[in-house]
Amino acid sequence: MDTSYFVRRRLFCPGPTPIPLRSLMTSVENNPYHRTDFFYSLISNCHDFLKPFFGTSGTPLILTSSGTGAMEAAMVNLTDPEDKVLMIHAGRFGERWAEMAMSYGCQTVRLDIPWGQVPDPDDLVKVLAKEKAFKAVFFHGVETSTGVYFPVAELTKVIRANSDALVVVDAVSSLVCHEMNMDDWGVDCVVAASQKGFGTAPGLSFISLSERAWQRLSKRPRFYFDLRTEKKEQSEGKTAWTPGTQLVLSLHSSLQTLLAIGRPNLYDFHARITEGVRAALRAMGLELYVPQDYAHSVTPFKVPQSIRAGDLNKELVNKYNMIFAGGQNQLQGKVLRIAHIGFVDPFDIHAALAGLELSLKTHGIDVVGKGSGEFLRSAAFA
Ligand SMILES: *Cc1c(COP(=O)(O)O)cnc(C)c1O
Repeated sequence: MDTSYFVRRRLFCPGPTPIPLRSLMTSVENNPYHRTDFFYSLISNCHDFLKPFFGTSGTPLILTSSGTGAMEAAMVNLTDPEDKVLMIHAGRFGERWAEMAMSYGCQTVRLDIPWGQVPDPDDLVKVLAKEKAFKAVFFHGVETSTGVYFPVAELTKVIRANSDALVVVDAVSSLVCHEMNMDDWGVDCVVAASQKGFGTAPGLSFISLSERAWQRLSKRPRFYFDLRTEKKEQSEGKTAWTPGTQLVLSLHSSLQTLLAIGRPNLYDFHARITEGVRAALRAMGLELYVPQDYAHSVTPFKVPQSIRAGDLNKELVNKYNMIFAGGQNQLQGKVLRIAHIGFVDPFDIHAALAGLELSLKTHGIDVVGKGSGEFLRSAAFA
């Protein structure tokens, strides 16, 4: 039977993520005008709502771009050509920082970490001592391609103790799932995006700078992403250019909901869902890709050798209307990823596990009820 007509579409990819209905409806306004007091206060509210997720008393600026735009804003505003930069690199998004730095003419040094692992602080100390005088160190919280969470606080401490470099963190798929305290931890720049933890459609990105970073802006030519212009305008709730207005409306609503739930509850919830998903996958006899230091936003698992990952993924989409994420680069064909970032409903995750079980059965592995049952008994519902 073709169930796909009856089953609603469910997203289990690490962005875009489900949008709360109220937030979706809020965005349906007939092209609001952004040069109004109403819109200025909306932007200012969003700043205030975003601050606790960044852990800063500064203002996370709102840009109209995907997450990579905020990464680029960090790059052009904080580095000059020929600056030496260090990239801690363990997957596709670490790679993105490195490629970006090279296209901007930085002397790019890579600390290559095997995929699925986190950096050894001693290796970081060594490279900082050997190379010296880095302008900035770039890394991420969650590496979405591998499902690893880099311990941002700990790495920042090591960098700050051993160099004068600015610390720049891609937290696009960590915020809302993992705590971030950029002021306390000494992080100089954090970037994020609307379509991951924040339950908003793609198109807005966020960037927050420390005082130290504002003091050390680059001399590069720049225009759309000139953070000096944005800072000046956004201090009054204005934006330098036309913002994605309907996205801002939606973001405002989603942030209100997130803050009503409360950050400690959000972090606890995502940790529990992660434990539940991991227990469920193990109960199905599947191997988890990341043994430790795993993300609370996305969980990759190895697809059994007897099955083609692409076939399994296609069946999940075509038959059950479930969008999982495949493996990227060297993990292509080896893993599938279940995301549980943003406004994830635990009963949808239960459905994901059930859909996975049914698809595995088609491919000769009958574990129906094993993982989904385990999930109901797991930390996710405790
Ligand atoms: C999604 C994501 C980004 C941003 O990607 P865009 O497609 O530009 O929004 C950046 N870093 C990480 C870790 C991500 O997961």
